[in-house]
Amino acid sequence: DSFFLELPKVELHAHLNGSLSPATMLQLKRFHADSGIEDKTNAFFDEFQIGAGDSRNLTDCFQVFNIAHSLTSTPDALTIATRLTLQEFQDDGCCYLELRSTPRETPHMTKVQYIETLVKAIQKSSLHLTMIARLIISINRKSPVAEVEEIATLAVEYYKKHPDVIVGIELSGDPMAGTFQSFVPALTQARNAGLKVTLHCGEVCNPVEVMEMLKFKPERLGHGTCIHPKYGGTEETWATLCELKIPVEVCLTSNVNTKSTPDYESHHFKLFYDADIPTIICTDDKGVFSTSLSQEYQICLKTFSLTSSQTARLALNACQYVFADNVRKTLNDKLLNFIGKYS
Ligand code: IMP
Repeated sequence: DSFFLELPKVELHAHLNGSLSPATMLQLKRFHADSGIEDKTNAFFDEFQIGAGDSRNLTDCFQVFNIAHSLTSTPDALTIATRLTLQEFQDDGCCYLELRSTPRETPHMTKVQYIETLVKAIQKSSLHLTMIARLIISINRKSPVAEVEEIATLAVEYYKKHPDVIVGIELSGDPMAGTFQSFVPALTQARNAGLKVTLHCGEVCNPVEVMEMLKFKPERLGHGTCIHPKYGGTEETWATLCELKIPVEVCLTSNVNTKSTPDYESHHFKLFYDADIPTIICTDDKGVFSTSLSQEYQICLKTFSLTSSQTARLALNACQYVFADNVRKTLNDKLLNFIGKYS
């Protein structure tokens, strides 16, 4: 349906290495073969993509990222991956993308080179894309605290150099690994320097940690699955979210395919929507979960019987929560223009 494609959308929760499409992975495989770099895995789409009814769960999902990581281990490959992924989001009708990625040291590059490569790729893309792209630096919960602090320090340093590209810092990775409290000093350092913060919150049932995260008052939350008492949260976690109204990046297909949510119909989106908690439709890992942002909007409309106008409003509201304050008005005007023409 052209409505979903044409709706100007903002994507605020997309992990680079989870967003690689089969076409992009194929190009990266060719690039590796041509440049004689060993492509450590022969695993391919079947192993990388997790679809509906797949027997793998959230923990298994974290294994599949190794496949993408083996294809983005050099600066050149990372550049190609970023360039193609940005293009795909634009082709899907995104007008603004906050791409997130975890700086990784590989045998072919340092963490500094990883960040510099992404910044350069995004800056270059702005020369030919109409979509606006920004970068969020990710912290993996599995990393030792010292490494998390190193990444936060780099995030601040590169944010100061490139405030036009880097806008935030986020916490993700296996929700069973690490403790939120141990990352608070690093996240606070980044926040004090001006970076916005978003946290993967309540991906698994852990109301104590959810409370700690809510009290930290990040600008946004990722997923928010186990916050309502019906979904493994408590009265307190739910009441606190309702009071603070922190916007939540909601990833329908990701949650269904990893079995964090049994099916679309019982997804917590509806509870949040009805409680007036700002919800932003996002893809999470469009490559891993074979989806697109326009598809997620379509699934949302169908599952929760929204009207086109309500769906367009979701996209319009999302503009308020982008980390790049200086483009909010432009995005807002674009959405209003679309809504005006459509209705
Ligand atoms: P990268 O940061 O670009 O390497 O993207 C892949 C990484 O994003 C994974 O290794 C995880 O750390 C993180 N990630 C992707 N999807 C999820 C999710 O659903 N929950 C938590 N972390 C995730």
